[in-house]
Amino acid sequence: MNDILLLKPGELFLKGLNKRYFEEKLMNNLRRRLKHVGRFEVSCRQSTFYVEARDEESDLDEALAAAQQVFGFASVTRAAACEKDKDVIARKAIEYLRDDMLAVKSFKVETKRSDKRFELTSIELSQYVGGLLAEAYPNAKAQMHDPELVVHLEVREMAAYVHARPLPGAGGMPVGSNGSAVTLLSGGIDSPVSTYLIAKRGVRLVPVHFFSFPYTSELAKEKVISLAKLLEPYTGRMTLQIVPFTHIQEEIRRCCPEEYFTLIMRRFMMRIAEDIALHNDCKAIVTGENLGQVASQTMEAMASTQSVLHNIPVLQPLIGMDKLDIIAHARKIGTFETSILPYEDCCTVFTPRHPKTRPTLAEVAEAESAMDIEGLVKEAIAGIERIKIGYEC
Ligand code: ATP
Ligand code: MG
Repeated sequence: MNDILLLKPGELFLKGLNKRYFEEKLMNNLRRRLKHVGRFEVSCRQSTFYVEARDEESDLDEALAAAQQVFGFASVTRAAACEKDKDVIARKAIEYLRDDMLAVKSFKVETKRSDKRFELTSIELSQYVGGLLAEAYPNAKAQMHDPELVVHLEVREMAAYVHARPLPGAGGMPVGSNGSAVTLLSGGIDSPVSTYLIAKRGVRLVPVHFFSFPYTSELAKEKVISLAKLLEPYTGRMTLQIVPFTHIQEEIRRCCPEEYFTLIMRRFMMRIAEDIALHNDCKAIVTGENLGQVASQTMEAMASTQSVLHNIPVLQPLIGMDKLDIIAHARKIGTFETSILPYEDCCTVFTPRHPKTRPTLAEVAEAESAMDIEGLVKEAIAGIERIKIGYEC
C-alpha cells in the first residue's frame, strides 16, 4: 500500500456558501500543479484533499513540495497507508512515527473513521494504538491536554492512514477565486514579491514587462521570463506581455524636460497597463511600489502616475514594507538571486539627474503636452509579444 498526501484547506473561506466553488478551484489548481511533477490522483472528501501516486516514477515527496506552493491550503501531510486492522495500524504507527515519538515526552492519538463498519469505534482505536505506542516509546506518555505530538489515524474506504506533524501549506486563497489583475513585472527585487502577494489573495495574474531594446538587452528580457517562470508554481500559468517601450522613451527624451522623464514614462506604463487590463478582463493593476524608496514613489509622484487611469485601482502590496522584509520574501519565494542579476531595466535608461519628486498634475501634463500620447500608446500595444509561461503540460 502506498503513502498518500493529505491537504487541509484554510478554514475561513470554506465556511460560506461558496464552499463548492472554492473547493473546485483548489482541486483544479492542485491537479495542474502536480501535472508538472508526475502522475497523481487527486480527490476531495469532507474538505480534505487526497493525493496518490499513479505509478512508481511519481515521487510523493516532490508532490508534497509542489503542493506546499498551492495557495489555499493551510497544511500538507504525508501519511502512511496500511491494512484496516487494529494491530497492523498500531505496528505502522510505531514504525512510521519512530523519530517523532522519540523526540517528545507526551502525545495523544486522534482517530477519524469514515468506514463505520470498522471493528472499533474512533475512541477505542485511539486508546488501543495509544497504549501500544506508549509501550514502544517509554519516553513519551499519553496526555489528553496539550500534548507535544498529536498522532492522527484515519480509517477510510480503501485503507487506514497514519500521520503526524502537518507541514504548513502556502496559505492564502485559491488563485482564480478573486478575479484577475495585470501585474507590472520589472527585473527588480520588488515586483516579483508584489506579484506573489496578490496571487496569494486568490488573483489570477497577467504580467506585463516594458522592454526598451537595445537600451536594455535581450538578457534583461530573459531575466524577466525567468522570474515569471519562478513565480508560476504559485501563480499558475500566465501569459507574459512584453511591451516594446523604446519609441516611447525616445520620444520622451526628445519632447519633454529632463526632470520629468521618469514620471512621464510611468504615466505611459499605466495607460498601457490599463488597456491590457481592459482586454484581459483584469480589474486592477499591481505594482511593486514602496513609499519613499525612489523619487517616483513619493505620494505626489504616485498621484501623478495614477491620474492617467480611468476606472481601475492600483494595488501596491509592498507600499508600507521595509526593504529588508521585501528581500526576505524574495528569498523565501526563490526570486531574489535572479532579481539581483546585473541587467539593466528600462527605468535606468535616460534617468534624470535631478528628478522631480513633488510634481503638480498640471506641471506633468504640461511637460508631456508635445507628445502624441494616443498614437504612441496604440503603437506599443500593437507590438506586444506574448509569452506563455507554464503551459507545457
Ligand atoms: P522593482 O524592484 O520591482 O523593479 P523598483 O524599486 O525598481 O521596483 P521602480 O523602478 O520605481 O521601483 O518601479 C516601480 C514599479 O513599477 C515596479 O515594482 C514594477 O511594478 C513597475 N515597473 C518598473 N519598471 C518596469 C518595467 N520595465 N516593466 C514592468 N513594470 C515595471
Ligand atoms: Mg526596478
